[in-house]
Amino acid sequence: GTPGTAHGAGWERPFDAAAPDGTLARSLPPELRAALADAVARPAAQQPRWPDLERVGEIRAVLEAAPPLTLPAEIDGLRGHLARVARGEAFLLQGGDCAETFTENTEAHVRATAGLLHEMAGILTGATGLPVVRVGRMAGQYAKPRSNALDALGLPVYRGDIVNGLAPEPEARVADPARMVRAHANAAATLNLLRALPGPDADPGLYVSHEALLLDYELALLRAHRGEGGTRLYAQSAHFLWIGDRTRQRDGAHLAFAELLANPLGLKIGPNTTPEQVVEYVERLDPHGTPGRLTLISRMGSGRVRDLLPPLVERVAASGHPVIWQCDPMHGNTRESPSGYKTRHFDDVADEVRGFFEVHRALGTHPGGLHIEFTGEDVTECLGGFQRISDADLAGRYETACDPRLNTRQSLELAALAAELLGG
Ligand code: PEP
Ligand code: MN
Repeated sequence: GTPGTAHGAGWERPFDAAAPDGTLARSLPPELRAALADAVARPAAQQPRWPDLERVGEIRAVLEAAPPLTLPAEIDGLRGHLARVARGEAFLLQGGDCAETFTENTEAHVRATAGLLHEMAGILTGATGLPVVRVGRMAGQYAKPRSNALDALGLPVYRGDIVNGLAPEPEARVADPARMVRAHANAAATLNLLRALPGPDADPGLYVSHEALLLDYELALLRAHRGEGGTRLYAQSAHFLWIGDRTRQRDGAHLAFAELLANPLGLKIGPNTTPEQVVEYVERLDPHGTPGRLTLISRMGSGRVRDLLPPLVERVAASGHPVIWQCDPMHGNTRESPSGYKTRHFDDVADEVRGFFEVHRALGTHPGGLHIEFTGEDVTECLGGFQRISDADLAGRYETACDPRLNTRQSLELAALAAELLGG
C-alpha cells in the first residue's frame, strides 16, 4: 500500500512558498541547489494549513538567521556511534514523549526523561556488556502527523505545539507559524539543560531526535557545510531525524528532503510496507552503504511482527545495506480502552519486542534497538505492567498531549525484558 492515502489529514502543500531562494540556497553548488528545490517542490503530506504564507516566510527568515541547535561534528559523531550499532557491537535506545509540549518542557520533565533513558541504558549494558547509544525524542518533538483533519468535536485537529494549541477551542487550533520560533527556543533550552546534566560515565552522552515532519521548520534550520567531500547539508534542528509512517510517500517531499541530509536518519515502517518498498527506501536513503546512516524502525503490532518483519529483513540483508533494525513496539499497538482512552497494553508492547527479537535471532541479524514513547513520571496512560494499571486507573494521571506513554515502572520493566532478550 501507499502510506498516507488512507489518512484524511494529509493536506498536501507543494512548497512554492518554501522555494530555497535565500542565503542557504545561494551558498549551494548548482546541483545540490537544484536537488533541494526539486525536493521541496514535491507534495508534502501532513503540513499545516497556515492562514498566512507571507508570515511563514518571515518566521522562516528569523529561524534561518538563528543559531542552529546541533553541530555537524556532533551529528557525525552520532553517526559513528550508530555504525557500531549497525555492526552489532552496540544497542540503540531512543525514546521520550510522543509529543513534547511547551508547558511541560520543565526542568523536572527533562531531567526525568533523560534520567530514565540513562537508567534503562544501564540495565541493558549491565546485562549484556553492550554499549548503548542514547537518543531522546526531545528538544524538538513538537510536530504530529494525524489520522484525521478534524477531531471528535469537529475542530481542526491538534498538530503539535509547533503548529497549534491542544485546547479544544477554535482559536487555539489555528495554525500559527510564530510557534516555530517558540519551538526553537524551547528546544534550545532543553538542549542547554541536557548538555549541562551529568551524563553517564561512558560515552556517548545523550543525543536528540524528532520526526522530520514540519518542513517549514526543518528547512529553516538546514545549514550547508563545505568539507573534503564537497558541500553537505545538515539538519541542525536535531542530531537524528526520522520520517514517519504517514509521510514516507515515494514521490513526496519528506523522503526527497531526507535523501539530501548528512544526518543519520530513521524511517518508520508499518504493516503495509512491502519488501519492494523497503529496498527502494534503503537504496535512496543509504545509497553508499554507510553503517549508521539508516535506521529502519518497524512498528507492526504485536500480532503481526512475526509474520510481516521477516520478509523485510531478508530483502534488506540481501541488498547488503548495513541498516540498523529498531523496534517501535508502541505505534502498532494503540487501542481505545472501554472507557474511551487512547491506550496501549504493556503486554502487547512486550510481545512486539519479543517478536522482534525472535525474528532477528532466527535470521541471524542484529536486533539493534528500541524506539519507545515513555516519560520518567508516574502517569497512567498505558495499561498493565507490574502495577497492573487498569482501564479505571487511566483517568488518574492521563497527561499526554498525543499518544500514551510508558511510565517509569513500565519503562524499566521493558528495559529488563530487552536486556534479557539481548543477553540471551
Ligand atoms: C510517532 O512516532 O509518534 C509516530 C507518529 O509514529 P508513526 O509515524 O510510526 O505512526
Ligand atoms: Mn506517537
